[in-house]
Amino acid sequence: MKVRLFEIFTSVEGEGILYGTKTLFVRLAGCPFTCFYCDTKESLPLDSGTEYTIENANQLIDSNLKEQTYKVNFTGGDPLIQHQAVALLAKHIQEKKIPTYLESSCFDIDRFNHVLPFIDIIKIEFKTKDSNFVDSNHYEKFIDHTLKCLESSVKSKKTTFIKIVVSSKTKPNEFQELTNQIFTLISKNNIDGFIIQPSYGVSEPSLDLLLELYDIVYPHYIDVKVVPQLHKFIGAP
Ligand code: SF4
Repeated sequence: MKVRLFEIFTSVEGEGILYGTKTLFVRLAGCPFTCFYCDTKESLPLDSGTEYTIENANQLIDSNLKEQTYKVNFTGGDPLIQHQAVALLAKHIQEKKIPTYLESSCFDIDRFNHVLPFIDIIKIEFKTKDSNFVDSNHYEKFIDHTLKCLESSVKSKKTTFIKIVVSSKTKPNEFQELTNQIFTLISKNNIDGFIIQPSYGVSEPSLDLLLELYDIVYPHYIDVKVVPQLHKFIGAP
């Protein structure tokens, strides 16, 4: 089996509940979606990056793995595009007793369940309608998959948290609907965090909008946090 990797590097985790941790990022090539705020557009083409055998990719990971790395992130693109390769690479990391971390829009429950046994920490990213992730006719279908992935992650007792990127285009009523769908499925005790992440450099949301969205989640989950991409403030990739 082959895998296309766009890049691999160590940096400071700038998102989510584990911001600030020393992390090896394994960025896989390929994502068919079209979020307008995407900050990794160069990795979207399926033929971007470089192709490796799994063995060579594992060697590349080993040679890039620095001491005292807290976790290894599989990111993209969307890593579930190459789910079979991700499962093999993540298994290799787990054998070293280093936690593995998946960041994905979780667009396909079968692909998600394939990688799940080899992932320790899961960031489930729900897309808002305004993100342009997919056209509006297909939006509900993809959200349904993301909800199923959330349920599966929770059932498997993995460390699971939710991230939603919001922008000035985010409509509170649609955000409310999405929040209701999430907390109809799971309870507050099932997740380890709920992060509202403001878009950066494009259609940035106002503080008033961020607080309005925070107030929508708070009744369901009082530990909701608004956390920007902190790595951008220190010029880290
Ligand atoms: S799913 Fe992620 S990688 Fe794909 S377009 Fe959206 S933000 Fe970019």
